[in-house]
Amino acid sequence: MPSGPYDADAVEEKWQQRWLDEDTYAYRGEEVDDPNTAFAIDTPPPTVSGSLHWGHVYGTVLQDIVARFTRMQGEEVFYPFGYDDNGIASERLTERELDIRHQDFERREFQQKCREVCAEFEDEFTENMQSFGFSIDWNNTYRTIEPRVQRISQLSFIDLYEQGKEYRKRAPAIWCPECETAISQVETEDDERDSHFHDIAFELVDGGSSTSEGGEAADVDGESAGQDEFTISTTRPELLPACVAVFVHPDDEDNQNLVGEEARVPLFGHEVPIIADERVDMETGSGIVMSCTFGDQTDIEWYQAHDLDLRVAIDESGHMTDVAGEYEGMSSADARQAIVADLDETGALLDRWPITHSVNVHERCGTGVEFLVADQWYVEMLDSTDEYLEAGREMDWYPEKMFSRYKHWIEGLQWDWCISRQRSSGIPFPVWYCDDCDEAVMAEKADLPVDPLSDEPPVDACPECGHGEFVPEDDVFDTWATSSLTPLINAGWDWDEDAGEFTMENPELFPMDLRPQGHDIISFWLFHTVVKCYEHTGEVPFDSVMINGMVLDENRKKMSKSKGNVVSPQEVKSQFPVDAARFWAAGSSIGDDLPYQEKGLRAGEKLLQKLWNASKLVDSLTPETAPDVDESDLSALDRWLLAELDAEAEFVREKLANREFSKARDSLRSFFWGTFCDDYLEIAKQRVREEDDESAKYTLTVAHRRFLQLFAPVLSHITEEIWQEMYSEGAGFESVHRTSWPEPTGIDADHDAGETAMAVVGALRRYKSERQLPLNAELDTVAVYGEIDGFENDVRNVMHVGTLETLEEEPEIESVVTGIDLDYSVVGPEYGADVPDIEAGIESGEYEIEGDRLLVAGHELSAEEFSVERERQYTGEGEMLEADGALVIVQA
Ligand SMILES: [Zn+2]
Ligand SMILES: [Zn+2]
Repeated sequence: MPSGPYDADAVEEKWQQRWLDEDTYAYRGEEVDDPNTAFAIDTPPPTVSGSLHWGHVYGTVLQDIVARFTRMQGEEVFYPFGYDDNGIASERLTERELDIRHQDFERREFQQKCREVCAEFEDEFTENMQSFGFSIDWNNTYRTIEPRVQRISQLSFIDLYEQGKEYRKRAPAIWCPECETAISQVETEDDERDSHFHDIAFELVDGGSSTSEGGEAADVDGESAGQDEFTISTTRPELLPACVAVFVHPDDEDNQNLVGEEARVPLFGHEVPIIADERVDMETGSGIVMSCTFGDQTDIEWYQAHDLDLRVAIDESGHMTDVAGEYEGMSSADARQAIVADLDETGALLDRWPITHSVNVHERCGTGVEFLVADQWYVEMLDSTDEYLEAGREMDWYPEKMFSRYKHWIEGLQWDWCISRQRSSGIPFPVWYCDDCDEAVMAEKADLPVDPLSDEPPVDACPECGHGEFVPEDDVFDTWATSSLTPLINAGWDWDEDAGEFTMENPELFPMDLRPQGHDIISFWLFHTVVKCYEHTGEVPFDSVMINGMVLDENRKKMSKSKGNVVSPQEVKSQFPVDAARFWAAGSSIGDDLPYQEKGLRAGEKLLQKLWNASKLVDSLTPETAPDVDESDLSALDRWLLAELDAEAEFVREKLANREFSKARDSLRSFFWGTFCDDYLEIAKQRVREEDDESAKYTLTVAHRRFLQLFAPVLSHITEEIWQEMYSEGAGFESVHRTSWPEPTGIDADHDAGETAMAVVGALRRYKSERQLPLNAELDTVAVYGEIDGFENDVRNVMHVGTLETLEEEPEIESVVTGIDLDYSVVGPEYGADVPDIEAGIESGEYEIEGDRLLVAGHELSAEEFSVERERQYTGEGEMLEADGALVIVQA
């Protein structure tokens, strides 16, 4: 071992490079005979949208601990890495980086720019990831835009189409006017926004069924006597031109008279029916609502249920259409202002007041969504939600509570999955349409990947009508339509044309063993992966799911650029060893958010130094090769340590298998630091130096090797360095990370007696050092009251005891008064000027305690005026030491 302190920078860089050079973590599929010994991890492919942040590092450390640990359990671990670079995120990155707009480029040209920008970011990201030393198999990487993945994604589309699980429909779809594309329900979220409520007067077309004014008067039958206008409350006056009906709740007695009449829309003048429907919320505003094309989901339901007109007032880019008359061409926000002003001028605006309400927005850009009627492709999901729920139940969830998020998402599902996006960069639909009858013509599976914009359809004539002209689909897939296929991408799913069936290049990898990911994408990535894989293979794609939380700042606040509290991993890496960051990350309970705290990293750094120093000491005490000692010849203390270590190794194994990272980490750290370094190692050092004790040397070697292996999943760099320095054998490179988890030695020892004996030795060491005696000073007689059966010889030898006795009876101990405390709040007022005399009497010992009274300086103090301090004192011969679980009497 080299001298000096641990040089983490040099060591970590060295091993990161060596692991890459040696392919240490490459998947050795050819060595897998039994699929159960392959352990496949379906890692989240980051969207290429920026640089590495703590969330990536934190989540990946936890995956990596599982990967390293599982490798040591004898499983061949498949730990791939991918980039998700085909979606809107990478388009936006490209626009930002190059300061361009995708609309200004021909599609191919823009796609090319996206690839170039993404490739640059991916290279940098990979380098950053590698500088954290994760045991990723860098030979098994993918990008979701690469041709192989495009082929798999298009195969998936065609397979679901052939199964009847996909349909194309002209129907209202959720639309982002900022991104100018359809999106799916999962991409929307609710956001609190400031807005206004508007009370707007609507006229009845023929003045109502009578001529009286106002709606208050009612005849004896309870029916309204008639009115000529009513009030609508809305937050979206710009949708007035899109109004197609007015609705009243069937239980709304006050307004029942309106049903069946027609209303005239203010400013725009068109006439719409007034209809009764239970979906009206009677509690909001006047209880009379307008239905538009389309303000929300209910509008869509009404449109379908009542066969209403379609009046599209807002276009794909959020501007007003010709339906809006003089407002045509305005943005919807400008139109809102103009319409409100005009309503006010005509007297139709009855009232307006500010509110804060929840608005459905596109999660990627924060823009309020619209609903647009368009041709879109959907994956049918609503008919199979029970099966997807059951599939979720079949997976093991770490932590278990996260299953409820999956469940709630499925229970709240209202839409089939819209998978078509009107964007530039993405995987194209392998579809053409007959120019005459609109029949969809799919590409041949053997030809995939195809781009219908440049490739020809596989038929010359429409199979439906014989027409010879086709129109290519120019939409692209939703990015999740591809990233939901990662288990199949990783297992090498493909279509075998000759056999006429789907195959897998590495069938032993599917279903995969572990899906690790953040809780924020349970509804996106996990759910859609289950749907896709289940529909393609009939199987649940994962045995287990591990959900990590987020990294927060020191004050447990979310890190965000706008708050300026972001700590970048590279910044931290310049100050702390990677292993220290790994130690910190391993201190989490799975599923919980973890605050970034420097003290956590400093604790890790201290442990590295401790491990380094202890290893150097062990190295100096032990020979090159472990001494040949029969286990039955080991001393009792050595047997005890190895037995304790067996139990510790089993504990750590169990906790890591159960993804209880912090429990494993904390227990191992305290066993290593306390039991091994502070206690055992000190004793062993003395035995080796004084007696050249073979049993101690053997035990040191065995225990130290084991500690390195137990620490390896968390402290991956330093354990490799020490392992190679001390235990590498032969010419070839064998990483500590490719060794097997230590098997139990099977040695038996009395746990309690051993612990007590260690405590006795510790007490005697302190006794000697407090008196500045050398550690090998002879002690004539030592008597122990406590259970150290079987360890007597060890205690005697280690501490150079002439005669060691064990006591059957507790040594004579008296309770001795060591002080008197006065309660001055009582004593002061009671004795006044005599208090100094009382104090002097106590100080000089001139007092007596009689029962619960204190006689001092001529006074008799009662129990509430004082309290007595007592100490247990040994009054026999020699000196008594207290140890954990024992009393020790020394006669030097
Ligand atoms: Zn958007
Ligand atoms: Zn046709």
